[in-house]
Parts: sequence; C-alpha cells; structure tokens
Amino acid sequence: MEGTVRKVVLIGATGSIGGNALRVIAAHPERLRLVGAANRSRSSELEEIGRRFGVKKLCCVERDGEAALSELATMEDADIVLMAAGGTVCLRPTLAAIAAGKAIALASKEVLVMAGAFVMEAARRAGVRILPVDSEHNAIFQCLDGRTGGVKRLILTASGGPFRDSCLETMRCATPEQALRHPNWSMGPKITIDSATMANKGLEMIEARWLFDVAPEQIDVVIHPQSIVHSMVEFVDGSMLAQLAPPSMTFAIQHALLYPERLPGVEAPLDLTRAMSLTFSPPDPEKFRTLALARQAMQAGGSAPAIFNAANEVAVEAFLKAEIPFLAIASIIGQTLSTLPIVQPRDLDELIEADAEARRAARAAVTK
Ligand code: MG
Repeated sequence: MEGTVRKVVLIGATGSIGGNALRVIAAHPERLRLVGAANRSRSSELEEIGRRFGVKKLCCVERDGEAALSELATMEDADIVLMAAGGTVCLRPTLAAIAAGKAIALASKEVLVMAGAFVMEAARRAGVRILPVDSEHNAIFQCLDGRTGGVKRLILTASGGPFRDSCLETMRCATPEQALRHPNWSMGPKITIDSATMANKGLEMIEARWLFDVAPEQIDVVIHPQSIVHSMVEFVDGSMLAQLAPPSMTFAIQHALLYPERLPGVEAPLDLTRAMSLTFSPPDPEKFRTLALARQAMQAGGSAPAIFNAANEVAVEAFLKAEIPFLAIASIIGQTLSTLPIVQPRDLDELIEADAEARRAARAAVTK
C-alpha cells in the first residue's frame, strides 16, 4: 500500500481548517501522511502536532521566517500542499509549490483573489492541479466533475451570517461580539466577520472566477441559511446540480486530499430520516454592500481584487478593535477602491505593492 500514500504538507496547521485537516489525515493513515506542517506563531502547538504525527519538518513563520515556508512547501517528499493559512502569507509558497510540481489543495482564498491570473497560469504551465478546499468551490468542483462546456452559472450559497434577518439599523449598531456569533460555522474571527458582512462571499466570487475560468457575470450568490447545499452549477439546458453535506469543513478537505478517491468520512453524513427544510433567497444589496463592491472589483480586474481584499482586512481589524462601526467596513472598501488607480501588475512584487498601497489608503480612511 506504500505507493498509494499521499504525502501532505499542511500550511496553517493550528487554525480551524488545519485542525480539521489533521482529523482527516489521522483517519486515513493508509492513504494520507503528514510530512510537513507550518503555522504563524504558536510554536509549542506546532511542536505538539509534530510529535503526534511523527513529523520533523516544521515551520513557525514568526520563528523561522517566511522563506522557510516556501522551502517547506517545495520539500522533495511532498505530493500535495494544503494551503490553509489566512491572509497573504500563502502567496509565494503556493507559486513555489506549483513550480516544484506539487498538487495544491487550496483553502487560502487570498491566493486566488490577489494573484488568480498568475497562479492559474503557473498551474497550467506546470500541469499541476489546484483542488479547491473552500466548501463552495469544492462543491462546484464536484458538480462540474471535469466538465467545462454547457455551464450557464455558478451559484455560491451563503449562510447570510448572524445578520441575515436583522434590519439595517441593527447592523449599524452591531458590536464585534454580535458579529462574531456565526449561526452555522465555527471559524476564525476574520472570516466570521467576513461572513457577517458577506465580504467572504465577495472574495469567493473572485476565487470562483479564477478556479473555474468563468466570466464575472456567470457567478451568483444565494442565501441558504442551513449551509447544507454548499453551492450549485446551473447548466445551459436549465438543469442544476448541487452538492450537499453537513456544515463541516472535513468533507471538502477530505475530498481534496483524497481526490479522486472516495472513502468514509470522519463525520456522520446528512440524516434524511429527520425532517429538514432547505431554503434559498436573494441577498439584500443594501445590507450586504460588500457583494456589489466585490463584483465591481472582479469586473475591473488587475489590482482591484487585491485592493478589495486589503481594504477589507484593514477595515475588519479596525472593527474588531471597535475603531469603526460595522457598516463602515463596506464604506472603507468602497472608498479605497475609488481612491486608488487600478493597475495591471506584471509580477508578484507589483501586486504586493498594490496590496500595501491599499492597506495604507484603507488605514487612512479608518482614522479619518
Ligand atoms: Mg467558503
């Protein structure tokens, strides 16, 4: 069986995706073996994972530096690298791993939001597969099942977050504590706030555009509070395919790590012997202004998605520190997008410069 073991490097080992990935890896020792793991700062937790999984190659970015991350992602022993760290830290390691011929299981959406054109082109040239781990994109990947023709629309589902049924006035006064109370998913604070503003779905639209090579107009969002249907594909003949699973990341992580093989999951599947209803409704554009802003950035292309992402990160951080009200997150993204020129970055350095410039502009907007 030795030949069928897939050797995994996990970047973001102590985060929420990382923890679920470790459960999946531990459940399939005959198929998956952890050979490298990285995190940002909690080195003792990382060492503990190293001991538990018998892994010697560890990288704690604050201790070992960012260059060590790319070294880990390209280590000779690895077959697949799971990019599960938030923010922009996975950008260079992803490109390095692709160049080294590693398959990529991609959970870190910033990689495609910022550098989708570079990353997809590099993967195409290297003949490397990018397997989506974000639950919506993993669902679409499963629905498409390798088909490229006949697709009319990709429909991303969104839980609607904690303010799905709130009025605009409630959202205006929302505290970080209220915004952090996500009804269905347990995730880190940044993505939980992104879910409350629906900026997360905006980032996912941009991510989908690159992963599945569709036009911005072919991507839609629908609110589905139960988080059971993870996304859908509508074909030109009017048929729609959907992927269903309980709201746990383990399903998407396992699908990506074992692809194309299917084995029993680590959690119970949906129980259809119990009554359940699935509902769908369009998002309210007034409450969730980040969706239109993300679409605007996606259509503008070039550095615009990176500006959207950077401004959002700065604004979310400011909201969590109670420096700005909840609805100002969208305003700061909008202001930053309209202030800065949109450029066509020729390489990663120019892209990172656009990102830094957007962070400066967004910070200035926060303190104004
Ligand atoms: Mg998602």
